[in-house]
Amino acid sequence: MRILILFAIFYAHIFSAVVKESIWRSAETFSDYISRKHIPLGLLKEISPEDMKYVSEIQAGERFYELEENGTLLQMLIPIGEEMQIELFKKRNSKEYTFDIIPIAYKRVADEVSVKIDRNLYSDIDEKTNNPRLGFILKTMYKGSVDFKRLRKGDRVVFRYVQKSRLGKPFGQPLVKSSIVVTGGKKRFAFVDENGNVWHDIKKKIRYSKEGRRTVVITKSRFIKKRNRRFTMPVKKGHITSRFSYKRWHPILHRYRPHLGVDWGAPRGTKIYAVNSGKVIFSGWLGGYGKAVKISHQGGYVSLYAHMSRIKVRKGKYIKRGEIVGYVGSTGRSTGNHLHFGLYLNGKAINPLKVLNKKGISADRVKITTKYKKVEKYNIVKTKTVAIEGAQEEKERLLKILESKERKSYRWDDIASAFIYVKDRKRYENENRRF
Ligand SMILES: [Zn+2]
Repeated sequence: MRILILFAIFYAHIFSAVVKESIWRSAETFSDYISRKHIPLGLLKEISPEDMKYVSEIQAGERFYELEENGTLLQMLIPIGEEMQIELFKKRNSKEYTFDIIPIAYKRVADEVSVKIDRNLYSDIDEKTNNPRLGFILKTMYKGSVDFKRLRKGDRVVFRYVQKSRLGKPFGQPLVKSSIVVTGGKKRFAFVDENGNVWHDIKKKIRYSKEGRRTVVITKSRFIKKRNRRFTMPVKKGHITSRFSYKRWHPILHRYRPHLGVDWGAPRGTKIYAVNSGKVIFSGWLGGYGKAVKISHQGGYVSLYAHMSRIKVRKGKYIKRGEIVGYVGSTGRSTGNHLHFGLYLNGKAINPLKVLNKKGISADRVKITTKYKKVEKYNIVKTKTVAIEGAQEEKERLLKILESKERKSYRWDDIASAFIYVKDRKRYENENRRF
């Protein structure tokens, strides 16, 4: 109080200037204002088009400051957003004014508030601080956690906050950094990090991903066209003398016997051809079949050429469809020159005439499935608990405030008038300006 009086006397003595807070009138334009304040209109021409944009940002109802002496405007400051302000300034010993856009000079007030609930949170905080926005910010911080309507008389709230101050008044939103609400015997902590996120603990769970490696079995299937599916005739001449049968009258044995092949009667020496490409798996004397050859083909087929007079291929040889295997004869148990031709599928005799010279004896396509192992990378998402930076320190400070005796808080009204003068005096002294 003593300081306040001292300054008041000081200013009254040196300046007769007065700072007043004004409110921008609705429907008043900047040039209206200039006229009303008897500022030469030539000033408008000196404002660049770029700066004129900011002039049009002035909102009706905006609070601003005017420094006047005997009804003459010496200086005017009106904020454009939270950081910059328009300044009109009367040149010394001149009727001219300067227009400028300058940073808003504000200071930060950091304070700790401890409130015992008497009526309700809002009015109790307001009474202590004269900054009603604090209560609403606390409410947002505890949304979904504490219902402030349910706070009872005697419950306690402590919080720490920072408020920008301009010419002694709160400027912009206060930033509540941390708080503890004591209600129902529980202490509810809230902490606001530098990104504005609210936490209700000193730790948080975070998700992070880690690269892992694993071996996977990959199964790939593809279809390939089955080659050599076509079987051609083993002889080009001759006629069928005996067909495939599981039971036929055997002229030599005079019994019923199966005939697991087809006989072609043909002159001795008639060429016998491989019905398909494959590997010779037998070449030589084969009991009753006499001189015979067996060829193994793709798809599980084996062809047999029997009673030959002469064999032309050796065991183990790969031959192509149509190559000569040998010549017609009557070796082994035979009644005359003929070719006995047998065809086996997976070891079982089948009727060759159902296969020879026919297309599509089996599926056109064969499915080939291959499996292989591969090491691949993948992301493992894990969670871990980490400390919230600064939260523990804040909590400890708040707990200390809770334990200590109630103390006075910064009340925004109390210092306002003194502050305006101090602020202005500094500004003008610094810039070597006098009124
Ligand atoms: Zn036969």
